[in-house]
Amino acid sequence: MTDMRVDAVVLGSGPGGYVCGIRLGQLGVKTAVVERDAPGGVCLNVGCIPSKALIHAAKTFEKFTKAAEMGIVAKSPPAVDMKKMQEWKGGIVGKLTSGVRQLLKSNGSELVFGHAHLERGGSDGYRVIVESKGEKSAIIAKNVVIATGSRPIAIPGFDVDQKRVLDSTGALDLDAVPKRLVVIGGGYIGLELGTVYAKLGSKVTVVEALDTVLFGMDKDCVRVVAQKLRKMGVEVLLKTKAVKWESRKDGAAVTVQRAEGEEATIDCDRILVSVGRRPNTDGLGLDKVGVALDGKGFVTVDAQLRTNVPGIYAIGDAAGGVLLAHKATKEGEVVAEVIAGHRAAMDVRTIPAVVFTDPELSSTGLTEEQAAAEGHVIKVGRFPFAALGRALSVNDTEGFVKVIADAESEEILGMHVVGNGGSDLISEGTLAIEMGAVLQDLQLSVHPHPTLSEAVMEAAAAARGEAIHIVNR
Ligand SMILES: Cc1cc2nc3c(=O)[nH]c(=O)nc-3n(C[C@H](O)[C@H](O)[C@H](O)COP(=O)(O)OP(=O)(O)OC[C@H]3O[C@@H](n4cnc5c(N)ncnc54)[C@H](O)[C@@H]3O)c2cc1C
Repeated sequence: MTDMRVDAVVLGSGPGGYVCGIRLGQLGVKTAVVERDAPGGVCLNVGCIPSKALIHAAKTFEKFTKAAEMGIVAKSPPAVDMKKMQEWKGGIVGKLTSGVRQLLKSNGSELVFGHAHLERGGSDGYRVIVESKGEKSAIIAKNVVIATGSRPIAIPGFDVDQKRVLDSTGALDLDAVPKRLVVIGGGYIGLELGTVYAKLGSKVTVVEALDTVLFGMDKDCVRVVAQKLRKMGVEVLLKTKAVKWESRKDGAAVTVQRAEGEEATIDCDRILVSVGRRPNTDGLGLDKVGVALDGKGFVTVDAQLRTNVPGIYAIGDAAGGVLLAHKATKEGEVVAEVIAGHRAAMDVRTIPAVVFTDPELSSTGLTEEQAAAEGHVIKVGRFPFAALGRALSVNDTEGFVKVIADAESEEILGMHVVGNGGSDLISEGTLAIEMGAVLQDLQLSVHPHPTLSEAVMEAAAAARGEAIHIVNR
């Protein structure tokens, strides 16, 4: 087979790689995107989209069970058909991944299937060897974008077999609701999936080594999520480590160790290990071309996503930083423009983050602690959803909006929302931070009534002691 020659080759078709491929095509750069698995990467196949589909399904089930207080009386109690739910979820994934293929094609970028690794090549560029079904082919390109993403971190004593011990991929694919589920790791993935199964009827226990779940997020918001987990019957064991597990006649038992050293066992049917992710940068031949990695294996890049080797770039989870799909996507667009010769750089003030627990926790910019550490004296405004007509009318009043601003200039430094719908509200905070907006920009912009967005306006007003629908302190 003759070598394929392109201007740029992108390794991986996750939200970083496929967006990069589309944008390169739009900019007239001849591009191939190589994917060893399914187009769309973790995000579309085993991450953001399938998890949010199951979260929505679990929420819908819960709403049914709680509809009686709104006067909706079901003749028989709702039940869960997990196989059907998985089919529905699979349909959504299928639509989106076939959309990726189509978009790459229509923008003139070629999708090549196979496992890729790099070789140094000659003056005409790098050689990327693609292996598929025992066959090898080569792509020659002057520009290479590493967009190979990440995979779950394993922990000793808990080998993932996707039967008893699951990673997030296995937990998204169960065809029955486990009676008892132990989740190791109280980060966002563990809590999101734990919430799904708690709502569908599992007895969930979360084991977390730190003294808090959702480490690094706004502490007041985390408190609300933790309270709700308890209310749902989820047991959260903080300062506790999972040590080992063993089979039992009717399932498994996980041994945990508290900070004080005492041990306990938790009986369960399934164990979900979600303690973080590591980059897919091994086996790519990066050592052969001299690409520098940090101590954890992430590719080191500058603001233009350039590695230390000319013509080789890295984006998304493989390049570290926050491991989120929208960060990968933004970097995919930026690197395409850099390769096409535009003046572009990853120049953002904030990357928002959303945890799709119940209630949702959404965050952008600095927390109070981070603002103080940067030397700001701050003003904080809070507005509870319980005081908002829209939240009351949709029967979902948990949580609040918190706006953090510099006390003197009143420039917005951060916004944190705990409450359902916050995942959409948070973009107003991101826009405010990117534009250098001040509290009055949010306070004086007319927000439509009745909507949840009024809480953003009121929180900004509260920071100035001028909120209307709560008593200002
Ligand atoms: C359960 C779960 C839920 C999540 N929820 C959210 C969320 O709600 N919001 C959010 O922003 N993020 C979420 N994430 C994180 C998000 O999925 C990742 O940050 C995102 O997918 C990273 O994109 P990427 O393009 O860097 O890599 P990936 O999506 O990991 O894609 C990399 C691709 O490269 C391919 N590849 C790897 N090596 C090779 C090779 N040698 N040759 C060819 N192909 C290769 C892989 O097969 C893969 O398709 C979630 C993750 C998980 C696991």
